[in-house]
This record gives sequence, structure tokens and C-alpha cells, in this order.
Amino acid sequence: MATLLLKEADVVITMDPLGTTIPGGGVYIRDNVIEQVGPTPELPDAADKIVDARGLALAPGLINTHHHFFQSLFRAVPGAQDCGLFDWLDRLVPLYGGVDAEALRIASLTSMAELMLSGCTTSSDHHYMFTNDTTLDAQIEAASSIGLRLHATRGSMSMGESDGGLIADELVEDDHVIVADSVRLIETYHDPSPLAMVRIGLAPSTPFAVTKELMRESASLARSHPGVTLHTHVAETLDELEYCRQRFGQRPTEYMEEVVWLGPDVWWAHAVHLDDAEVEMLAETGTGVAHCATSNMRLGPDVCGVRDMLAAGVNVGIGVDGSASNDTGHLLAEARAAMLLQRVTHGAGGLGVEAGLRLATVGGAAVLGRRRELGSLEAGKAADVIGIDLHTVAMAGGAVHDPVAALLLCSVDRVELSIINGRPVIRDGRILTVDVEALVGRHNEIARRLVWSQGA
Ligand code: ZN
Repeated sequence: MATLLLKEADVVITMDPLGTTIPGGGVYIRDNVIEQVGPTPELPDAADKIVDARGLALAPGLINTHHHFFQSLFRAVPGAQDCGLFDWLDRLVPLYGGVDAEALRIASLTSMAELMLSGCTTSSDHHYMFTNDTTLDAQIEAASSIGLRLHATRGSMSMGESDGGLIADELVEDDHVIVADSVRLIETYHDPSPLAMVRIGLAPSTPFAVTKELMRESASLARSHPGVTLHTHVAETLDELEYCRQRFGQRPTEYMEEVVWLGPDVWWAHAVHLDDAEVEMLAETGTGVAHCATSNMRLGPDVCGVRDMLAAGVNVGIGVDGSASNDTGHLLAEARAAMLLQRVTHGAGGLGVEAGLRLATVGGAAVLGRRRELGSLEAGKAADVIGIDLHTVAMAGGAVHDPVAALLLCSVDRVELSIINGRPVIRDGRILTVDVEALVGRHNEIARRLVWSQGA
């Protein structure tokens, strides 16, 4: 049993149900669990390891509910910078064909490092294209080495152009291959225990990229394994609604209802174009939403009805989305973007600062089905804690008035400290678990090869 004491932080932002903040507080950790949170004098004064957190705000680790790690290789690609979703796909998807296992591993590590430096301690990823020798194993091993808590989702595409799908035939897989690999991944890696570092989800790229039979089979496979979840993109753009109407004579939500992709084990990325009854249905069924504000602004442009969803009781988390449609993976900045975007349509009171932080913490935990374990600094929860320097140039004159509000209203370049599952992974703003300089060097070599060797 190892103990870790974080003490004398300027403030501890717990994100508990009462929104408690503790000036001069700390967190006492035993192994990978928070044992106590409170004013420093009330905590045990001895521990195997003690971190002086003066100057920092301690907060729960942030949770990212939607990403495509591999896309960090394709940020800011010329020809995909200023177009809508379908043209963006036309430009980028052919380039994805060059991704191999090493490219996926390096891109995943890079995306994870970027997320962790911006406060993320738990992320999901949606990887849906298995080109060359790629498998999800590369991502899961990368998460284990860098120390990030991962919800890896096994994506899929089984309908190519010859079946009326949107993707070249050579980039899709057969349904039976997808199901067999999903079973293998669940049996090899999925951990249903409360503080699991790896969980598996099943995640067709979109409901219309796979057969209806695979949608149903994925749902029944997930539901036969406790803790295995279901994830996909739904109602992202008006183009998608039109495609769905022409091809199936339905709205996307009607299709999802038909294949029984609703429930507390399901979360949808985007869910931008929903009517009031559809929002109500998400609330009633416990279906979650990954809100990706920057991606929606860049590729939409559209505003997801987050304020109305929260009012209706829908579980909503923040997703940075793939790095080719954001093009940053900065999770705290993404929570800020979500807060500001609601104000575009609802005025200055559209979404408050604390509500924005809740999306990135307890909201994300609820979306991933981990409300009891993650998302707040409370006794019994996972030891996922971040520390933010309140004495930077960007925080000057802000954190002294309200350090909670300053997290979203001011800017945070990167966190100073991160503990994930009781393990220190960032100290003094530097990641301890990977050589970032070497990683970025290799990442850029691969990115250059994948984009420019094809005459881009
Ligand atoms: Zn996405």
C-alpha cells in the first residue's frame, strides 16, 4: 500500500454535487483511490510521498468523450482546411489508407500527451479504419505506457461504395471480421472493475457506414458483457440528415431507435440536429452525448443544443473530436469553447463557467458510465487529480478573484501536475512517461510521409 499526499494547494476544486472548493486544501491518496479531501491540517501529515501544491489549484482529472487519435497526423492539411464535413472526408479519407500500426501507435501517443498536458486523465477514442497492419492493440498498449485511462472503442465500416456507402471498398471490413475482432478485444482487454484503466466499446463509424445487422449485432454483443459500451456519430450535419432521409426515409434518431442504440450504455458524438422530442428521448433512456464544439464550428457550422439537453436531464460530456477537425486536442480549451458557443445562441447566461467545467468532469464521467468512480475529488473515487498553476501571466488578475472561473475565462497553456490512477504522470508541466521531443520528431516524419508522398 502506497500513500501520496498533495497538500496546501491554493484551492481544491472538488466538483462534488455542492461545488465545494477548499482554500489551502489537499488530497490524500492510497494506491489508486482518493481516501480524503479537505483542508491540509485535517489530512494525515505523513505519507510515502508528499507533494507541496502551493500555487496550484487542484481539480479532478478531465474526461474526453470523443476523439480519433490517429487524426493528429492530418491536422491543417491543405485542401481540408475550409470545407464542410463531406468535402473534408473526400480530401482526408484517401490519405488515411497509409496508416499502419506504427503510425497509429505514434499518433495515439501524441494525442494522449496533448490531452494529458491539457488536464485529461480519461479519454475515449473512436478508431474505425483498420488499414494495413493496424489493430486497436497499438492504442491500448500506448495508453498503458503513457499512463492514460482509456475507453478504446472498436470502430467499423462495412459498407463500401459498391453497397451504397460513402467509403472506397478497399477501406471497409466484412461484418464477421469486425465481430470476431470485437470479441477478441473484449476478451483480451476489457476490465469491468470499478477503477479500470481500460474499457472497450463498440463503435461503427456512423450508423450508415455499416449494415443494419451489424448495428444490431454490436448492441447485443456489448450488452452481453458488463461495462462494454456503444458509441457512434449521430446527427452531426444537415448533409447527414438529408442522406439519411433519401436512403432510409428516416431521421437518424428514428434509425437509432429501430436498431436499439439508446440507453445508459450508449453515447452519441455530436447530436447537433435533434428536435425537442428527440432530446427528451435521450434524457429518458439515459443516452449520453459527446459535445464537440470546435469541430461543429469548423465543419458544420452548427450549434448543439447543450443548454436544452442539460435542462432536459441528458448526460453531456466534452469531446475534442479528431485532431483533423479541431485541430487541437486541448481539453480545457474545448470546455471553454463549449461554454462560449452556447452563449452565441442563448446570450451571456447561455452556459456558466461551472456548468462548462461540469461537462468536462462529472458530465464526461456520466457519459462513459463511470459517475461513481470518476469526475470529482471525493473519497472513494479514482485518484485522478490535476494541478493548475494560478500564478502565470495568463492567470494574473483572474485567479485571485475566482480561481474556478479563471480556469475557463482565462487561459491555461498546460497543467503543472497530473496524477492518474495514483501515478504521477506530469510534474512541473512535463510528462514523465514519454520522451515528448522524440515522439514529436517521429510523428512529424510519419505525418509528412502520409500526406506528401501521395502528391498532396
Ligand atoms: Zn468524430
